[in-house]
This record gives sequence, C-alpha cells and structure tokens, in this order.
Amino acid sequence: MKLDYTPEQQAFRAEVRSWMEANVPAGKLPSFDLTRQGFEAHRDWERKLSQGQWGMVTWPEAYGGRALDLIRWLIFEEEYYRAGAPTRVNQNGIFLLGPTMMEFGTDDQKQRFLPRMAAGDDIWAQAWSEPGAGSDLAAVRSTCTRDGDEYVLNGQKIWSTRAVFADWAFGLFREPGSERHKGMSLILFPLDAPGVTRRPIARMDGEMVFAEIFLDNVRVPVADRLGDEGQGWHVCMATAGFERGLMLRSPARYQVAAQKLAALYHANKANLPASIGERVAQHWMDADAYALSIYSTASRLEAGGKIGPESSTNKIFWSEMDVALHQTALDILGPRAELLGQSTDGVSPVDWLDGFIFALAGPIYAGSNEIQRNIIAERMLGLPRG
Ligand SMILES: Cc1cc2nc3c(=O)[nH]c(=O)nc-3n(C[C@H](O)[C@H](O)[C@H](O)COP(=O)(O)OP(=O)(O)OC[C@H]3O[C@@H](n4cnc5c(N)ncnc54)[C@H](O)[C@@H]3O)c2cc1C
Repeated sequence: MKLDYTPEQQAFRAEVRSWMEANVPAGKLPSFDLTRQGFEAHRDWERKLSQGQWGMVTWPEAYGGRALDLIRWLIFEEEYYRAGAPTRVNQNGIFLLGPTMMEFGTDDQKQRFLPRMAAGDDIWAQAWSEPGAGSDLAAVRSTCTRDGDEYVLNGQKIWSTRAVFADWAFGLFREPGSERHKGMSLILFPLDAPGVTRRPIARMDGEMVFAEIFLDNVRVPVADRLGDEGQGWHVCMATAGFERGLMLRSPARYQVAAQKLAALYHANKANLPASIGERVAQHWMDADAYALSIYSTASRLEAGGKIGPESSTNKIFWSEMDVALHQTALDILGPRAELLGQSTDGVSPVDWLDGFIFALAGPIYAGSNEIQRNIIAERMLGLPRG
C-alpha cells in the first residue's frame, strides 16, 4: 500500500484547509436538536458549503459535487474535522440516501433530489425502525397501498434522527399482506405532507434527537419510490452498507477526538496514574489503525471493488473505540465530567460528557453490534446460525 499523498492530493488538502479557515464559524453553532433556530443555523452552514461546492465532493458536478475520488473525500473529511466545522445536519441525506439514490434512483429522482440535498435545501430523516422492528427490520408493518399513480402510506415509525425539524424522510413500507423480506418498498415522503404527525422524543439530556412519525393515509406519487416495487429490502441493505462501512463515521472524527484527548491528558497528567497515559496512547493508535483500514477499503472501492462484510467489522470497531475514548476523557476529568450544559468552544468538560452520551448509542444505531457480530459469524466465518 502506498501511503504518500500525490502533489495533486496535497494541493487539494491545501485548498480545503484555506477554505475552511476562511469560512468555518468562529463559535460552536447552537444544537440542531434543541431549537428550530439551531437547526436552521446548521442548514445555513450546509448552504455555505454548497456555495463553495463542498456539499459532497464525491458527487457528480451536475448534482452539486466535484466528482472526486474517495481518497480526496477522506482528505476533505480530515480537513473538515481539523477545522472544527459543524456536525453535518443532513448526514442521513448526504451519507446514506444520496449514495443509495446514485445507485437505484431514476434520472428524474437524481435531478429533483440530489442538488437540493447537497445544498441543504432538503434535510432528510431515515424512517425505517418501528416499535417491534429495529434489529429485526424485516418485521416492519407500516404499509404502502398502491392506488393508481400514488401510494397510500399508513403506520408508525420511531427513532427517526433529525425528523423533528427535517423536511423529508426515506421510509420502509410493505404491501399489505406481504411478509418478511418480500413486498417492501423504499418510499420518499415529505414530513409536512397531510396525514404525517411527528412526535419528538427527548434524549436523556433533553435534546430532541429523535421523532416518532405517524402516517395516516399519506398520499405520495409512485415516482417517489426508490428502486423497484417490492425490492425495498435490497435497496435498504445497500444503504446500510454505506452507513456502517465507510461514509457515516469517517476516521478523521476519531483522529481529532484522540488528539483532543491527548491534549486533555497533558493538561491534567500531573495528577493521573500512568495507566491513563497508556489508554490515551492506545486510543490514538486505534484511531490511526481505523484510518489506515478505511484508506485500504477506499482504495479497493476505487479499483472497482464492493463493500462487503467489513462494514460490520468497521462498525463494531468505530463504535467501541468511541465509547472507550470518551470513557477515558471522563476518567481524566473526574467529577468535573458530570456537569451538563451548553458548550461554546467544543473542548469543555461538557463536550466530553455530550460526546460520551452520544457514543453510548454507537453500538445500537446503524444495526446493533450484536447483530453485526451475528453477520460476521455467519457470513465471514461461516459459523452455523444460532
Ligand atoms: C442514536 C440512535 C439513532 C437512531 N436513528 C435512527 C434513524 O434515524 N432511523 C431509524 O429508522 N432508526 C434509528 N435508530 C434505531 C436503531 O436502528 C434501532 O435502535 C436498532 O436497530 C435496534 O433496534 P431496537 O431499538 O428495536 O432494539 P431491539 O431490536 O429490540 O434489540 C434489543 C437488544 O437485543 C439485541 N438483539 C436483537 N436481536 C438479536 C439477535 N438476533 N441476536 C443477538 N442480539 C439481538 C440487540 O442487539 C439489542 O441489544 C436509531 C437508534 C439510535 C440509538
């Protein structure tokens, strides 16, 4: 594996760095899960990114991108996190639905949705989980009933991230009477359509990260189905591969967190046992190891390969690394770590606690780690089903 960057890649890095230095907001933006104002501040940031053509650098130019390869996307991400730029409010859209639409969407869908997604004009939520259908997604009961050129949607979704303020959702529905993996379709619907009710669910710190979504005879055009009718499971599994494997959690996120942790350790090390220093060093190495592994996967994909079961091993690795890294930060901070509040600088004790609370969810979302271990056992190791 060649680890040096080419002169073109280095020039690209310099271009991203100088744009970020000139444009990243000086203070931390208000939370996008607490108020409409915070949500819209993040949308404005997405618009600014898109004006600089940075909305999603790997996408074709016609859809607001720069048609760059995955290695440049990783470089972009490194500079993005290095600059402390705001969390992407549209990550469900740009990292999950976007790549899926690129693979399964019609030309009309790509033209209608992708430029608006890249520009932050439409912020997306993922509406798959239901009460009784989380790990066992094939148990989804919400229905899509065909009525001429329309579907009529009915049912209930839960744990839909950003859906409190988002504009659109991509949901998994089944034909009435169908069972398990058959008869499902992935359907796009506006969250302000007649018959849609959103009920926020507050996280333990009060932020309205999720919503329940109730659908009561919601009519959407058949043209807003993504992929073939009845092929929703197949389409969703492609999305899940993007979510777990590469896009959702880029390595730069953890490398920057490891750097902040090392700074926290150095500022406090006079009062800490040597074992904490060893943990900090381990987190740093883990973050770098994850980055190298992702560069290897990206190189393989650029050479025409497909993402496979490593999306499950990656997901376990980043989610467990994130919990452990934040736990070490809390151990360094001691009782100071227990204060909740709103941070303005991105490095206060409040941020470590906030990060820890979020990290705890990592082993659950994007397919729980127990399910990923089942996939590894059955599909990678060929072990018998339990
Ligand atoms: C932060 C966060 C964000 C989320 N965002 C979204 C979103 O935007 N859209 C969306 O649709 N959903 C979202 N989810 C929901 C998420 O996909 C589900 O929580 C997840 O799939 C687990 O499903 P469940 O909560 O129903 O738990 P269950 O499926 O009931 O599982 C409960 C426990 O049993 C274990 N378990 C279940 N089946 C097995 C098995 N066969 N073998 C071994 N162990 C098993 C699980 O690992 C888990 O520990 C989000 C969840 C979180 C935490």
